[in-house]
Amino acid sequence: MREWEAMDKHLIRGGQQQQQLPEKIPIGAIFTESNPEIQTVFKYAIHLHNSNESLSRFKVEPVIDVVDSDDPFKVSRALCLQLSRGVFSLVSPIIGHAYETLVSYSNIFQMPFVHLGMSRTMDVKHADYGISMRPRYLPAIVDVIKFYDWKTIIYIYQSDDGLMKLQHIFSIVNDNYTLEIRAVKRIVNATDAHQFLHALELSDSQSKKYVILDCDSETAKQIIIDHVRDIYMGRRNFHFLLTSLIMDDYWNNQVQEFGAINITGFRVLQTTSHEFRQFSKSWRNLNPGLWPGAGTNYFSADTALMFDATKVILDTYNRLLKKKSDLFKNNFRRGEFFNNGTKGIDCRRQSVIIWEHGDKIAKYIKKSEITGLTGNLSFIESGFRRNFSIDVVEMTVNHEMAKIAEWTEEDGMILVPGKYRRIYQESNIENKTYIVTSILEEPYLMEKVPESGVVLTGNDRFEGYCKDLADSIAKNVGFNYELRLVNDSKYGGLDSKSPSGWNGMVGELIRKESDIAIAPLTITSARERVIDFTKPFMSLGISIMIKKPVKKNPGIFSFMNPLSQEIWVYIILSYIGVSVVLFLVSRFSPHEWRYEDTLCGPKVSNDFSLNNSLWFSLGAIMQQSCDVCPRSISGRIVGSVWWFFTLIIISSYTANLAAFLTVERMVTPINSADDLSKQTEVEYGVLKYSSTMEFFRKSKITVYSRMWEFMSAKPNVFVDSYTEGIRRVRESKGKYAFLIESTQNDYNNERQPCDTMKVGRNLDAKGYGLATPLGSPLRIELNLAVLNLIESGDLTKLENKWWYDRSECKTKDIKESSQSELTLSNVAGCFYILIGGLVLAMVVALIEFCWKSRREAIQSKTSLYEAMKANVRVSITGAPAYSVYLNRTIARNRTDSV
Ligand code: ASP
Repeated sequence: MREWEAMDKHLIRGGQQQQQLPEKIPIGAIFTESNPEIQTVFKYAIHLHNSNESLSRFKVEPVIDVVDSDDPFKVSRALCLQLSRGVFSLVSPIIGHAYETLVSYSNIFQMPFVHLGMSRTMDVKHADYGISMRPRYLPAIVDVIKFYDWKTIIYIYQSDDGLMKLQHIFSIVNDNYTLEIRAVKRIVNATDAHQFLHALELSDSQSKKYVILDCDSETAKQIIIDHVRDIYMGRRNFHFLLTSLIMDDYWNNQVQEFGAINITGFRVLQTTSHEFRQFSKSWRNLNPGLWPGAGTNYFSADTALMFDATKVILDTYNRLLKKKSDLFKNNFRRGEFFNNGTKGIDCRRQSVIIWEHGDKIAKYIKKSEITGLTGNLSFIESGFRRNFSIDVVEMTVNHEMAKIAEWTEEDGMILVPGKYRRIYQESNIENKTYIVTSILEEPYLMEKVPESGVVLTGNDRFEGYCKDLADSIAKNVGFNYELRLVNDSKYGGLDSKSPSGWNGMVGELIRKESDIAIAPLTITSARERVIDFTKPFMSLGISIMIKKPVKKNPGIFSFMNPLSQEIWVYIILSYIGVSVVLFLVSRFSPHEWRYEDTLCGPKVSNDFSLNNSLWFSLGAIMQQSCDVCPRSISGRIVGSVWWFFTLIIISSYTANLAAFLTVERMVTPINSADDLSKQTEVEYGVLKYSSTMEFFRKSKITVYSRMWEFMSAKPNVFVDSYTEGIRRVRESKGKYAFLIESTQNDYNNERQPCDTMKVGRNLDAKGYGLATPLGSPLRIELNLAVLNLIESGDLTKLENKWWYDRSECKTKDIKESSQSELTLSNVAGCFYILIGGLVLAMVVALIEFCWKSRREAIQSKTSLYEAMKANVRVSITGAPAYSVYLNRTIARNRTDSV
């Protein structure tokens, strides 16, 4: 039988060496083939015990069986074999399908069973005579979730009990904390998990994703490695919580080199304890040839748990034999094992014969009080660990793993001040030569025109802002560099045809073809996910470049320009209105009537006929006097408000006219992004694969998304380079506007033929940064250098040198006029005063009219109504009223008789 042979084969030398010793306690162990390190540590713990004469009052014989898979049938056969050979207790790290088989046998035969156990707590058959080495820390997962205040989680699990664990997590999250599940996925391997997360990220790359990974160490590591290698996956928006004790493993080389992901997990190893240090030292010094898996600086949590498990068993027998040294006297006869008088334990027998000391040994095991590599090793009645503590550790972007809290069953999570250490960065940057990628873009980088006879080589072939910046940075940090132009002349955008998924400078950095990008490369969130940026060295925003409109020839009616058409219309209406009101009030006001005695009798006349009223008003507008002037109060009111009105309007007109005549006016058809979006006559576009293109593509602002719809419907509006875009603006006679970053806009507007201009405000605000591949050792140094240059003012000097000092349009021959015609809102007050005055005048005229009619009614002893009627007639027809006539005649007769 294979297992029998295997057992013999696996009996280790340590055991065989002790053959001659009188009593060797046989300890059974069943392993799967997968993890040699765990077998080694078991053998090593026994070896340490057996070889220490002073410590041991007994020797131990390891009875090891290795099964090739986690198959319950194979495991049960191996176990029966071990029972028949007479093992005193059993150890096994198996936690898969065969775990329950082991537990059943242990329970039936009362065989003390020390297992590494699962972190799950329920629905698993419990080993009555066993203990579990792995602490139960499920509540710690809940505490961590609460600590980070995660409200939605993505749960990925691998084993059967994953869902039960999830259920348990929810059962202990109390009511006042709302936790929701965004997605649950059972996986078979790391690829499954990766594909799932990839799809999730593509569907929504913006949201934060809190992923709880419940899988074995290898799978978890692979998932994370796949994640950081996938350029489409966000890093800073992901946070993984690893539920298994896999943070004890050695991570640094595999994952931290990518240094761009947040991981939280648990650690059970008490790395600062004396036991740990001692064990690590001796483990390190073991010969891996003899002790497979040993001889390393690191070991897994399972290895430590197996060491502790063996330690617990050895300590138990030590205590038992200390109490009763001949306890097992009857069990050994002539080198054979007897139990209850029968040889071995036969698991095929109908009537079960239990292991006679099983119960006692199990009780003693549970009374252990020792310290191991995983801390305090003591157990509760049900066999689970008590008084243990585990560390909550965090690995954040570019930082080594740091302990953030200690978790115990009693106190929960106790935060400790985290010592975040940056991942070790290569320090000998100095004097190395790095490849700097850049792009030809005026005035950032241009090919230098050599003086005659001079041949330029290397970095000297170039000049420009970025060349100067690269020189200063290299000097500051102390490295050499080789400037290369980006192969595809692109800044960098997502491009499925490119091997790294990105083209341009970004792609080169991802593929590590270059070490640094020193160029006007805009910092964006999408790029920041795949490369590292320094702090911005220049600020800018997207702006609109249009062709300068041609000068507008002053037309024959340009004198009308200072006032808007609307105002002209209102002035005309006011003129007519005022004249009519003046005419009316003069008619109704008695003071405006003149009495004359003519040969034909008395005659009344009024200067303010409609004609004269119009003439009077016109004279006022033209700032001229007129020989008719109102005499009545109401007429004068009308006159004064009109004079006031004309004074203000004419002065405003004169002032505006002066400005219109001195400044040439340019009419810009487009003044903002809004103007662009509302029309289709002027086309507009952006640079392909640029941050600007990305801005419009992603924008949720209506104006910009409308603009993106327009652009994407007409792909010919996209250009391959800024030069092409600017050329198009210049050549399309105002029918093409280019959305360009403000820095380039400003620069190009100052270049001959000075026929472009920037309109409107910047659409956004952002910056250019130096870029390096993710996790590059240069990043920190570059960052410091950029900040130094900003603080010392060197960058401002460079900006002046390459922008303002090179201006070719200094004469500013064409100036944009900020002058605009006066609109109604500018002079509305005058109109209100005028209208108010007219109304007042009419009221006064009415009062005058009534008052006069009353007086005449008294004088002529007629009724007021009669007098009013007569006066109305006079006002309308100009014929003297009867009473006036009467009064006048009476008056004259009186004088005659006198
Ligand atoms: N500087 C830019 C970029 O990095 C070009 C642009 O967005 O217009 O893509």
